[in-house]
Amino acid sequence: MMHHKIVVSIPIILALGLLLVGCSVHNRLTDSTNLPPTPTSTPMPSPTPEPLIFDGERAYLWVQKQCDLGYRITGSEANRLAGDLILAELQAQGWSTAEQPFTYRATPVRNLLAWKGEGTQAILLGAHYDTRRAADMEDPAVPVMGANDGASGVAVLLELARVLDWRASGSRIYLAFFDAEDNGRLDGWDWIVGSTYMAEHWGELGEPPLKAMVLLDMVGDADQQLYYEGNSNAALQQHLWNLAAQLGYDDRFVAEQRHTMLDDHIPFLQRGIDAVDIIDFDYPYWHTTQDTPDKISAESLKAVGYTMQAWLENTTAHDTPPQP
Ligand SMILES: [Zn+2]
Repeated sequence: MMHHKIVVSIPIILALGLLLVGCSVHNRLTDSTNLPPTPTSTPMPSPTPEPLIFDGERAYLWVQKQCDLGYRITGSEANRLAGDLILAELQAQGWSTAEQPFTYRATPVRNLLAWKGEGTQAILLGAHYDTRRAADMEDPAVPVMGANDGASGVAVLLELARVLDWRASGSRIYLAFFDAEDNGRLDGWDWIVGSTYMAEHWGELGEPPLKAMVLLDMVGDADQQLYYEGNSNAALQQHLWNLAAQLGYDDRFVAEQRHTMLDDHIPFLQRGIDAVDIIDFDYPYWHTTQDTPDKISAESLKAVGYTMQAWLENTTAHDTPPQP
């Protein structure tokens, strides 16, 4: 059920179909309701996929599916299965994929990358899919389930992979799934190991330069407040928060700085890329045994996912989000 796009064929004449190429999703919808009378010649059926809108409930299912695998600790079987699940879904949605394996402190690490589209510039959306091996804010003998800290960002990216009209973006779109973000300070591990590796090696396989990078981390809290993050690119951050407000999410996207994070956006910022960390760090279950799917809401996942969709598809203020 998660793996099938709903495609509705709308018969329109070929010439009109060509005229509409390049219009936004919303323009296509509007124009198709105002078709001129059909000419006398036989109309050419031209299938037009129905515009897809980010679905918070579907995203929530991805949180659940990841947590059902267990603790996705770097180097573990559950981590490997989570990576395989992500790759399978991306491929089912027609994305090109690549794996980026390497070894860190004798532990196998695997970043995942997916892309669609053409262009000489690219935009990267990222999230980490590993989970912390010790809930050291509460009980270090127990790992973190990571429903919010890990699974939420991945869930938004996987639902975006289903709905995104990448053609409207004018850029190649990359989705990155970082491994080994979250064992920092445990047995001498660094934070952000996977993203650091990906940023260092960006372009080696012909990837176009990045004009922007947005990180989604801890974006699923049912009690959601997304503040400006202190290391993020200020202009891009303001742009995204303004867009979220135009979409009706100004109660969730608070345009005030609150936290400053060492997170997976840092290696990209250090390479001169405009990068933003969308993170809700006011989460009482952070690095505890209580970071579980019952703390997550579909509405919160949707607020972030739909904002990302609107940004990448260049839709503007007059578009309002459909009700969840
Ligand atoms: Zn964490």
